[in-house]
Amino acid sequence: MAKRFTVMIVPDGGEKIRRIHVRRWVMTCALTVTLLCVGLLSFLTYCQFNNEFEKSELQRLRLVNGQQRYDLQRLSLDVELMRDELAHLAETEARVRQLADVESSPKALPVAVGGIPDGGTIGVVDEIQQQINRLQVAIDLRRQSQEDVRNLLNDKNSLSRATPMGWPTKGWITSYFGMRQIPIGKVGRRIHEGLDIAANTGTPVFATGDGVVARVEYSKSYGKAVIIDHGYGYRTLYAHNSKILVKRGARVKRGTKISEVGNTGLSTGPHVHYEVQLNGVPIDPRKTL
Ligand SMILES: [Zn+2]
Repeated sequence: MAKRFTVMIVPDGGEKIRRIHVRRWVMTCALTVTLLCVGLLSFLTYCQFNNEFEKSELQRLRLVNGQQRYDLQRLSLDVELMRDELAHLAETEARVRQLADVESSPKALPVAVGGIPDGGTIGVVDEIQQQINRLQVAIDLRRQSQEDVRNLLNDKNSLSRATPMGWPTKGWITSYFGMRQIPIGKVGRRIHEGLDIAANTGTPVFATGDGVVARVEYSKSYGKAVIIDHGYGYRTLYAHNSKILVKRGARVKRGTKISEVGNTGLSTGPHVHYEVQLNGVPIDPRKTL
């Protein structure tokens, strides 16, 4: 290869052509420097561009991060509000249990849920997730507890409606529950297992609790009688009626008219012989009036 090059400069207008002799190494150096300059310039341009891009990306991520942090805080606040609401529900249920005389539940204890913790977003999300899980458990327990209260109240309500209470008819007591002289011509004492309530013939007789008519019968001693099964071990007997208005198996409520006062059976005047039995044992009906 030649050791030197000749660069010819040919101007316009017929002027003299100029020749410049350049050595090969000078030419190589110039080319190398030019290439280095171009490379450096390209690199700097790339860096500048990259820097700008990273800057705007950083700014965008900061915005996103801020928004996410705000969302998390709001979520945490919502969780706290739910916790408060749940605590409020627990208080209300405790008051209902107290008023209804239902024993308090050992379940559904209040759940401790704190505010948004410091630290990275991932830690915060985990913490909120745990809080939500704990709330979910607490809500399930609370639901079960309220279901228990509802069932207990229904049971209490149903027991209360079934338990014999009040007078079976409008009248006055002529014979009490307990030992008494045998009235008709015989000597001795025997237990009177009910209450005699005198009233005019035809006066309505009412069931004293919800139940089912277990028996409608006529006997020498009780005359026309009705027996109602109230469940929970309670039965009531209404005897000496003139007329019976219900049939065996009929459902009755407290206050349903079941018969009319009469003088049938072993009776010395129109009255209702009213008996209350608990688990087959007669109890004093006066305690239920
Ligand atoms: Zn009697």
